[in-house]
Amino acid sequence: MENSVSQDLFGKACKIIPGGVNSPVRACRSVGCDPVFIVKGEGASVFDADGNEYIDFVCSWGPMILGHAHPSTVAALGEAAKAGTSFGAPTPSEIDLAAMVVEAVPSIEKVRFVNSGTEATMSAVRLARGYTGRNVVVKFDGCYHGHADSFLVKAGSGVLTLGIPGSPGVPEDIVKNTISIPYNNEEILEKTLRDENLDIACVIIEPVAGNMGCVIPRDGFLKKLRELTRELGIVLIFDEVITGFRLSYGGAQEYFDVIPDLTCLGKIIGGGLPVGAYGGRAEIMNYIAPDGPVYQAGTLSGNPLAMAAGRATLELLQRPGFYGELEEKSAGFAEKLMDVAEKTGMEVRLNRVGSLMTSFFTANDVFDFESAMKADTERYACHYRQMLSRGIYLAPSQFEVAFISAAQSKNDLDKAVKMTEWSFKKLLE
Ligand code: PLP
Repeated sequence: MENSVSQDLFGKACKIIPGGVNSPVRACRSVGCDPVFIVKGEGASVFDADGNEYIDFVCSWGPMILGHAHPSTVAALGEAAKAGTSFGAPTPSEIDLAAMVVEAVPSIEKVRFVNSGTEATMSAVRLARGYTGRNVVVKFDGCYHGHADSFLVKAGSGVLTLGIPGSPGVPEDIVKNTISIPYNNEEILEKTLRDENLDIACVIIEPVAGNMGCVIPRDGFLKKLRELTRELGIVLIFDEVITGFRLSYGGAQEYFDVIPDLTCLGKIIGGGLPVGAYGGRAEIMNYIAPDGPVYQAGTLSGNPLAMAAGRATLELLQRPGFYGELEEKSAGFAEKLMDVAEKTGMEVRLNRVGSLMTSFFTANDVFDFESAMKADTERYACHYRQMLSRGIYLAPSQFEVAFISAAQSKNDLDKAVKMTEWSFKKLLE
């Protein structure tokens, strides 16, 4: 596969952009190759600067649930752009999208739009601290909540992929207010939350972890978390930046029927434009400025282009049967991948919820950070490069999820299965 144009672009990028990329995992270092440069997306496919086409399982890390350049989104963006791109003043489009979010997400009575998932989680934690008057944040090992200082403690995603335990530049004084505990361990959870020496403001969790690969909450884990936090007056924050509008129209909270106090959103609600949001019970949300004392603001927050793309996306997700079809397609795909693993003798554990899945190269169950770390990352790196060479665009890290989109056809998925079989066989030669 020719990639000289991408190589040339990467050389240029490295001279003027740190690592040649604007987000670390994109540099593909953990899979031992240089990135391809994408110039176009259409439906299920992305195309690189050398003209190669790939079936896309990254989907911009989640937002592109409808595939790329969906005509409705493109049309909505065109209309919005004609009317001006930013005003720094209230616009009707913010009410439209806010109303859709409030109607969809069970925990949200009021919502504030920001520009990224990081801003959403950072602001939700500030709000929880302001509301409770307490300082400590409890998170889970391997979960990623963006790159705000408080979260860079045993984090997932790029922090995990690059093997960074925390980050220089984050003061000890901040980190000491973050406690990270194992995912799916009720005993440690209860002990931590009941510790009277801790001044716990909130617990933040990915209700399905997507940033150490796909890790599914055990039966009863989220319910237990909800019961304990309610009893102890701790604010429960679901980080649904990945799961929101993906597992169901009401997100993971609807899917698992566990309703948090605050919810963070991003990715899908922006339809591929930079958006985040946080929302929850009005009683808590009223603590935000200008109604309350907790400050949070943004020049481009509620940007009309982002609102238009989000609205166009959510409208399409409302189609009856949308999530059922996505589930059926994803389940069929996962089943075929497991058949391939069995047929070839490859040791793989596949974790899947809805259209989120990870094939871990390990013989053991993966249910938390420690078990995820047992996966064979060398083998994944080789698999990644082989799949890329055959037109399948996977996440450049073992510790990420594959996203299934509505745009992927049976043919696309069958091709990915066929290439997986070829790749597994080659890995075992
Ligand atoms: N929370 C979760 C669960 C995420 O997966 C991410 C990003 O991948 C974030 C927060 C941060 O979002 P952003 O990259 O938009 O800042």
